[in-house]
Amino acid sequence: MLTTLRRIVQDVAAASSFQEALRIIVHDVREALGTEVCSIYLLSPERDRYLFVATEGLNQDAVGKLSLSLDQGLTTLVAERAEPINLENASHHPRFHYIPEIGEEPFNAFLGVPVIHHRRVIGVLVVQQRQERRFDESEEAFLVTLSAQLATVMAHAEATGEIQRLFDAQTGKVSEASDVMFRGVAGAPGIAIGSAVVMQPPASLEGVPEREAEDVTTELMILDRAINAVRSDIRRISEEFAQSLPREELALFDAYLHMLDDNALAGDMRDRVRRGIWAQGALKQVIREHVRRFEAMEDPYLRERGADVKDLGLRVLAYLQDIRARKTQFPPDTVLVGHEVTPSMLANIPPEHLKGIVSVRGSGSSHVAILARALDIPAVMGAVDLPIADLDGQPMIVDGFYGEVFLNPSTHLEQSYEDLISQERAFAVELEDLKELPSITRDGWRVELWVNIGLTGDISRSLDRGAEGIGLFRTEVPFMTKESFPTEEEQRVIYREHMEAFEPRPVTMRSLDIGGDKALSYFPISEENPFLGWRGIRVTLDHPEIFMVQARAMIKANAGLRGELRIMLPMISSMSEVEEAKALIHRAYIEVLEEGVQVKQPLVGVMVEVPAAVYQARELARRVDFLAVGSNDLTQYMLAVDRNNPRVADLYQETHPAVLGALLEVARAAHREQTYVGICGELAGSPVGAVLLLAMGYHVLSMNATNLPKVKWVIRNIKRKDARRMLARVLRMTTAEEVQSYMRAQLVKAGLGRVVPSHHH
Ligand code: PEP
Ligand code: MG
Repeated sequence: MLTTLRRIVQDVAAASSFQEALRIIVHDVREALGTEVCSIYLLSPERDRYLFVATEGLNQDAVGKLSLSLDQGLTTLVAERAEPINLENASHHPRFHYIPEIGEEPFNAFLGVPVIHHRRVIGVLVVQQRQERRFDESEEAFLVTLSAQLATVMAHAEATGEIQRLFDAQTGKVSEASDVMFRGVAGAPGIAIGSAVVMQPPASLEGVPEREAEDVTTELMILDRAINAVRSDIRRISEEFAQSLPREELALFDAYLHMLDDNALAGDMRDRVRRGIWAQGALKQVIREHVRRFEAMEDPYLRERGADVKDLGLRVLAYLQDIRARKTQFPPDTVLVGHEVTPSMLANIPPEHLKGIVSVRGSGSSHVAILARALDIPAVMGAVDLPIADLDGQPMIVDGFYGEVFLNPSTHLEQSYEDLISQERAFAVELEDLKELPSITRDGWRVELWVNIGLTGDISRSLDRGAEGIGLFRTEVPFMTKESFPTEEEQRVIYREHMEAFEPRPVTMRSLDIGGDKALSYFPISEENPFLGWRGIRVTLDHPEIFMVQARAMIKANAGLRGELRIMLPMISSMSEVEEAKALIHRAYIEVLEEGVQVKQPLVGVMVEVPAAVYQARELARRVDFLAVGSNDLTQYMLAVDRNNPRVADLYQETHPAVLGALLEVARAAHREQTYVGICGELAGSPVGAVLLLAMGYHVLSMNATNLPKVKWVIRNIKRKDARRMLARVLRMTTAEEVQSYMRAQLVKAGLGRVVPSHHH
């Protein structure tokens, strides 16, 4: 059953249109279950009718014509109950409704299962049979499983307007070309209007867009180069293994080389390029076809060869993309679109051309979203239904405030977004006047507003926006753009540049925080659960040589400056980590002194990012000079919600009462130990968060430069007394939604509604 299931899902995924996908489903299911009828009904976008969209076994003429009202018949009862209904004789059921047009009168046995996407019923899958019998449990389980997998295909069709078109064809009216919207989550605020450039993740066949070859000769040449590169890789690997592998296993490499021959895959690909498809597209088609052929084979050995073909295909693709990446053209209004946009992809694009970012994977707290905020580039993350393969070059609007993407926008929509952009610009200009003013509440409470930084390009932007210090220097960013660990001197130069620019303001340098979703190409870490694995301080304490070089570079960079150097340790979960890291930093300090460089002893602080650190905040505070909450990680670990997983993105709530409780706990612990306490998670840069945090007594709010002026504006227009009153109310609330809507209402009431813009369309 499992193979059948997989095959159906694969066939459906490879279908050239939604209509064909529907036909494949009814055909394959009927065959797999050996029944006489299989049909699909889909819910209208207005959610008032179910349309009969595909069948095998019932009257084909009714397909796309017949529709059911919500209380008509057993099919809609399946939808209403959102659970399977399995009957021996359907006509005996009180809800049975006879519809002459579709010709189901001879069929007695009925099994209907709902198609559900994100808790919502969007269709019904039905099988029927003449003979009075019950479909057995395994058949029911099969259909339920299949339907759960196909739900995304249906949801996708809904999002792209395919389902609307089926209904339009039925009613004969053409509904207004509505702007097709894809929902994701807000990644970085702002609006971008531009055209899509689809970037692929390293070697994924799914992500390869359909394109024509611009120039067949070039594409053929690129293809040959890639294939030759893979050939020599394979020969090299084979030689390396020559001693250690038995001969049969080595034969596999020869088999690989044969597959790349002209009379096999390579020839096939070349033919397609000659017919005008670009090299990557040709590769995708050829590999897919071969893989499918192998996987359909009964022989388990041959079936496995499908995996080899795929592996080989990915190797070639990796080279093709590498050659291509250096050639991609970025128009001046580039919206970077990708299955998983990564920080390193940003590095390939001229900054002035990059106007927006859309990623299918990821969430508002992914690192690429954080970078986007720092760079002031609107971003939408987790747009899971976005059909990226068809998007290259298409016009689109990115609404980074609400996490929405519009394809081929109407002029009307474009105009209303243009208006919003100019309002935002006007507000930004107004905010410029605040640059030199302190962030102080109307009743005289001072809060330091610092910046989170990672790219050198951020320096002037941060200072322009009135940053009073660096609260988080993400040192992994300069590490990511290198091809090996940077040397002490290379690091010192980068750090020094920041410290000089910020002199005499304090600069907080975080020790290397890799692992989790941040990888270095030259130091790969592969784990089942990377966020619960080897990351942050755990890596650097296991590699003291890396830690020491970095600590020395930081200390040296600060030589002769008045600005305070604060070294901050990420992902601390136990006291011993703090002790060990402090000892290393002290040693680095002594070493630098011994080299004759005049330096001050740095301050040392820890990040509170792991729930354990909340409960030991007082013990931590006693051991260090400052605490800084990393609310991005703290939220993900407290709520057990991966910060990059769009499927659970709505559960990732920084104002969840449990998270707010923890934040208050940390502030109180620090106050009791008279230790300086700050926060450098994204919450600090949101107007709602900033008000609550200043009420809790956080001394420093560190955020991306983009949000800083707005937060300062809010702080200067509010009284701490009122903020504390709001906090007291909020602490009695039970859900994040309640907190958000109350705080919004309070800000609007206080005349600060501009920082919480209402939904645009
Ligand atoms: C955090 O976790 O809140 C934080 C500031 O660190 P990062 O986002 O770099 O993990
Ligand atoms: Mg963190």
